[in-house]
Amino acid sequence: MENMGKIQIAGLFPDEIAAWLADYDTASYRADQIFHWIHHQQVNEFVEMSNIPNKVIELLETQCHQPLAVEEVVTRKSIDGTEKYLFRLEDHETIETVLIPDGNRNTVCVSSQVGCAMNCSFCATGQGGCVRNMTGAEIVSQVLWVQRRLKRENSSISNIVFMGMGEPFANYREVMKSIHLINHPDGLNLGMRRITISTCGLVPQIERFARENTQANLAVSLHAPIDSKRSQIMPINKKYPIEQLIDACSYYVEQTGRRISFEYALIDGFNDSTEDALQLRDLLSDLLCHVNLIPINPVNHLRRSKSQVIQTFAQVLEDAHISVTIRKERGTDIEAACGQLRQRS
Ligand code: SF4
Repeated sequence: MENMGKIQIAGLFPDEIAAWLADYDTASYRADQIFHWIHHQQVNEFVEMSNIPNKVIELLETQCHQPLAVEEVVTRKSIDGTEKYLFRLEDHETIETVLIPDGNRNTVCVSSQVGCAMNCSFCATGQGGCVRNMTGAEIVSQVLWVQRRLKRENSSISNIVFMGMGEPFANYREVMKSIHLINHPDGLNLGMRRITISTCGLVPQIERFARENTQANLAVSLHAPIDSKRSQIMPINKKYPIEQLIDACSYYVEQTGRRISFEYALIDGFNDSTEDALQLRDLLSDLLCHVNLIPINPVNHLRRSKSQVIQTFAQVLEDAHISVTIRKERGTDIEAACGQLRQRS
């Protein structure tokens, strides 16, 4: 792999680029310019950096991987406007990214690992295990690539969710780096409040995140209100059962004063009864939270709940004054469920 071992410059902050350039007697303001070209202008060729002298361009070309650390291989567009990208990484592994336009919002769903070790039964990504963590450069490059594409239509990214391939908290350091790069005022400058990190429930990392003092949002994939059911579909529940998970979520709310979101994928005949809804209500009634009910994209013979059942489920929570939304189905015609396109390719 000819590029392996080269610097992935999209993962460096301006002061890190400056420290590297200092070894080559290059002024530190060049680092700010390079950072701006990559993160604000999203260029993918060093020669496009028109205010950078040739000798620095040559240095960048010989020592660094190209500016963005992902390369688009396949794009599929849904009739509802959702776009799914299959990106190739430097070592030829592939990951998926999804752009979900909705009115004025353009939400990008990013991946944080190649594959995933969590093995949730409803998820195509979890079926293949985890190959490796993605680097901060690879994570942020997905975002920059999509922003570059939206710019052609005078549009831009409004929100980012870490709900693609991988468990973000299993790659904690690189995910944190990527959100600070995305938030950087000289780069994309996307507000932390527009970024949501979604975890399957890694308790120590939820507690660590609570102490980060960031405004980024936290979502927890719950999917069942009792251990016996949750463990059937989410093996992580055997390590961190619901009581521990909810304690960590309460700690997060206490520390940050921020609302936490719970993702609840409704699976026909498994976790969608009125009794399930009542158990969920009892579990969450004391917590500052929001519940996203998700009609699942069918995987592994699991079927989507009927719409009347979904409405009844939501009503139980609303009656208890728990804030709830039913997520719109998007991109079902392009295999938008996480991991499906990669599995196919
Ligand atoms: S749902 Fe998320 S945590 Fe679970 S296997 Fe899939 S990618 Fe991993």
